[in-house]
Amino acid sequence: MKNIIFIAPPAAGKGTQSNMLKEKFDYAHISTGDMLREAINSGSKLGMDVKNIIDKGELVSDDIIIKLVEEKLASLNGKPFILDGFPRTLNQAKSLDNIIDDNYVAIYLDLSEEEAVKRITGRLTCSCGKSYNVNIDSLKPKAEGICDDCGNALIKRDDDNVDAFKVRFKTFLDNTNGLLDYYEEKNKLVKINVNRDVLEIFNDISGVIND
Ligand code: AMP
Repeated sequence: MKNIIFIAPPAAGKGTQSNMLKEKFDYAHISTGDMLREAINSGSKLGMDVKNIIDKGELVSDDIIIKLVEEKLASLNGKPFILDGFPRTLNQAKSLDNIIDDNYVAIYLDLSEEEAVKRITGRLTCSCGKSYNVNIDSLKPKAEGICDDCGNALIKRDDDNVDAFKVRFKTFLDNTNGLLDYYEEKNKLVKINVNRDVLEIFNDISGVIND
């Protein structure tokens, strides 16, 4: 089974797909966004340093993020992993290749800006990691504002607003071509259209990782 690197604009569903993959195939799910939000919630120095940057939709520095990911990967003891939200820059991608072997696939979840903003404005997340969307029928929680799985109250992320979205999407576009070219040249890139049902997307991803 291959390790997975997700390259995706905000709200493309990488969190949702990661949760499904984790359940079915026993992957470790490494979400740099979740790690940074945990640091913010714990009140650590790292959290205080990055909160403003994240709320504005900008990228945290490569040095900080590469160190975080490197430490996390070292703790896995060879368990297969999903990288959700890393690498986001070419520099991060090159650093990653110095840390991991080449048993991975880079999966680009392709989504239009119009669809992404619709998803962002409807997204609600749970502390258990599950993500919902009140603008998409198949992703609505059964009871309003409550997680189907654990019953906790759903939260709207501070950066899930239109202003931060615009910065996040532009940042994504500015960095993505370089990343896609990099993985294409290495013959590691698979593109998946995510303007479809979550299960169809999941089936496509499952086919790719077991190739
Ligand atoms: P995400 O949950 O993946 O949407 O990430 C939320 C925010 O965390 C991003 O908008 C960035 O501010 C920051 N972040 C997450 N991953 C990275 C990364 N690989 N490089 C730089 N900043 C990141």
